[in-house]
Formats: sequence, structure tokens, C-alpha cells
Amino acid sequence: MKTIVIIGAGYGGLRAAELLCKNTPHRIILIDKNPYHYMQTEVYGYIAGRFDMSDIAVDLESFTRGLGDQITFVQENVTQIDAANKTIITETGSYHYDYAILAVGAQTNFFTFIEGLKEHTHGIKDIQRAFAFRQAFEKRLADKLQNKTFKRAGDLHIAIAGAGLSGVEIAAEMAHTLKRYEKILARCSRRLKISLIDAAPTILPGMHPYIIDKARKRLHELGIELYTDAFISQIGERNITFKDGTKLDFDFIIFTAGIKAADLTATLDTEKNRIGQIIPDAHLMVKNYPDLFTVGDCTEIKDNKGNILPPTAQTAEKSAAYVATYIEQKERGKTPAPFSAKIDGVFIALGGTYALGILYNTIKVEGYLAYLLKKAITRFYRLGLELKVNAGYKKRDLRI
Ligand SMILES: Cc1cc2nc3c(=O)[nH]c(=O)nc-3n(C[C@H](O)[C@H](O)[C@H](O)COP(=O)(O)OP(=O)(O)OC[C@H]3O[C@@H](n4cnc5c(N)ncnc54)[C@H](O)[C@@H]3O)c2cc1C
Repeated sequence: MKTIVIIGAGYGGLRAAELLCKNTPHRIILIDKNPYHYMQTEVYGYIAGRFDMSDIAVDLESFTRGLGDQITFVQENVTQIDAANKTIITETGSYHYDYAILAVGAQTNFFTFIEGLKEHTHGIKDIQRAFAFRQAFEKRLADKLQNKTFKRAGDLHIAIAGAGLSGVEIAAEMAHTLKRYEKILARCSRRLKISLIDAAPTILPGMHPYIIDKARKRLHELGIELYTDAFISQIGERNITFKDGTKLDFDFIIFTAGIKAADLTATLDTEKNRIGQIIPDAHLMVKNYPDLFTVGDCTEIKDNKGNILPPTAQTAEKSAAYVATYIEQKERGKTPAPFSAKIDGVFIALGGTYALGILYNTIKVEGYLAYLLKKAITRFYRLGLELKVNAGYKKRDLRI
């Protein structure tokens, strides 16, 4: 029996774990620095107060117990990978592997060329920051209800820097939430404002024109102010300074304008791109590291035309499924074909029960139907996790 170590229990790591448990007899060790799986794709609803913590986090120990006895979950921070000795090194120990899968994802890229960015903005790539934002935001609304903090006729301005998928989803959901507050805040709620800012000439850069056009209209209906071609040079405690010298005041600012690969990739002596993503070989193997594979957001993944794919949960899962199958086939003496990536579709939540979607670059869906389809995809994903978590939780109870 061989040992397969998976580093990172995000969308990629969990997909690999499930398939390897189902299709191979090997011992699997799943390592994550956190005790939970963070469903980042749902965070827009969490920070706007629509979802709970339980909607975006899943207990990893119960999940792995639910997968069976061949897998163990270890909560550790991986600090290094020793390729020569095929060993994963953590802060407190080490694990030998026959195969390893790097699925450590990405983190917010707090660019150093924007002064004050890290100090004054909220990121949402980790649960603690999302939680901090939600708490601060709810406190502000509660204070506003008491009329404590708003001397200037009650302004509350949320700025979101980055109009990619996550920034647009967050802006729309927050605008929708604020609309609901109109009923309790009455006239004051008119002074609640959301601005969405991007340096690109359009929102959702790189997406299908149908999605860009419809999303722009929806954001406009929700009362969101759009700033495109807007380069931020400095962020202070309560204001943004743009490159042309103009300023914009805010009460809260969320930064979603860039990502870079997780820190662990920096320790690897292999080819990487400008945001630290690993450039693997055609089988998603890390160059210079035999039997170490890389999947998901920490990897530069291209489609068959050579275009770099945006980092999504969908691509993380597909790349992980490929690697799990590769290992299974290799163990049976087969030579697997290279990885071929493509995007099946994109769905984007735009506040309340409105969404947009495009499938296979041709089928367009809008409004409540798109919302239902997006919800069904999330429900299906969540249900798969919950079945294992419930099974694992019961097992744990029996042992106590
Ligand atoms: C607001 C928002 C909305 C999004 N919406 C969508 C969407 O609608 N559709 C879509 O497809 N994608 C969406 N995405 C993108 C999607 O969430 C990511 O592409 C996806 O999470 C990538 O999966 P992953 O497995 O590569 O990494 P992650 O899910 O980030 O998981 C990485 C894991 O590695 C762990 N880790 C990192 N470093 C270490 C270490 N040194 N030691 C141990 N553990 C470590 C982390 O704790 C984490 O659990 C969205 C993202 C955001 C932020």
C-alpha cells in the first residue's frame, strides 16, 4: 500500500480525497492548516448577512471519517516539501509520501504599490477576515439604527476594489441587503452607498460580453456606482486616492482585486508565473519534484488554446479529479493522457434571487432561473459534503 499526501482541503483537495478513497486502496493523509473546509464561493452571502457560518464551513475531521478508514485528516501548517526524500514538512512533524498533491489555493494579493492597502482593507479569502468585516458592518448598521454614529445625515459608504467575479457578487448582494434595510432605516437608508472600483476598462474583465452587459445593468438597478479605468494609488483610513489625484471617501473597503498563490509555493524550486502560481508539466506534475502534483488556484492552468484559465472552484475540482485518476491509472501500469482543461459554464449571483449564467459559451440564462440553477449546483456540492460529514460525525459519537 502506498501513501498519498494531499496538502490543502479546499475544492481541489477534497475532490482528490473523495476520488482517491473511492478508486484506490492507498493510505491518504489530508493536511490543512485550518480544521474546516471554507466554501469561498458562498462568502458573498455570508458577509452580506444572508448565510450563516454553517453555510460556508465544513468540519474536516468529520468529513474524512465519513470517507472511511483509509484517510486521516491532520491539522497542520505545511512549511516545506523535501523532494529528494519525498517528505512533507509541517511546523511540528513530517510525512513521507509516494505521491503528493499540492492544493493550497491562493490568497489576496495586497499589492505593495498601493500604499495603505493591507492596513485599511478587508480581504475575504479567509474566514477570519470575512467574519471581521461582517461584524463591523452589522455593528455599523445597528449603530445607525440607534442614530449614534452618523452625524453627516447618515452616510454609509462601502467601497469594493476589484470588479471581478467575487467583487461583483459581493457588491450586488450587499446592495440587495441594504435595500432590505430600507424598511427599518427609512429615509436614512438612502444615504447607504456602494461603489465598485476596477482598474480595467470594464467590470468582469475577460468574461463573455453577455455576462458583462447584463451584470452592468443589474448593478446599475441596484444603485451601485461603478468606477472603471480607475487606478488606486493610495488607501487611507477613510479614503481612496486615485492616480489622477481625485479622492473617494468610504466607511468600509473590501479588496478583491487580485490574488497570488499560497505562500508554500514560494518555497518550491520550480517554474512559476508572476503571481507565484506553479507552471506544471502536461500531467500537472511539479517540475523538479517527482510524483508531486499541483491543482487548483496555486497552479497556472491553460486551456487547449494556451489561454490561462481564471482561478475557479470548477477548475480546481477538474484538475484534482485528473490527478486522482492519473495516480490510479499509473498504479495499474497505464500511461494517462495529458490534462485538458476547459470551462463548462459560469454562474454569477447578483443579489437576492437574481443571477446570470452562460453554459458552453452559448446557452444564456438570466434572473430567477439562473439563480435556481446556481443554487442547485451549490446544494449538490454541499449535499455531497454533508453526507460524509454526517456519517463521520456519527462514527465519532460511537467511539466516545
Ligand atoms: C468571493 C468569491 C466568490 C467566488 N465565486 C466563485 C464561483 O462562483 N465559482 C467558482 O468556480 N469559483 C469561485 N470563486 C473561486 C474559488 O473559490 C477558488 O477558485 C477555489 O476556492 C480554489 O480552490 P482550491 O482548492 O485551489 O483552493 P482553496 O479552496 O483556496 O483551498 C486551499 C486550502 O489550502 C489550505 N492551505 C493553504 N496553505 C496551506 C499550508 N501551507 N498548509 C496547510 N494548508 C494550507 C487552505 O487553508 C485551504 O483550505 C470565488 C472566490 C471568491 C473569493
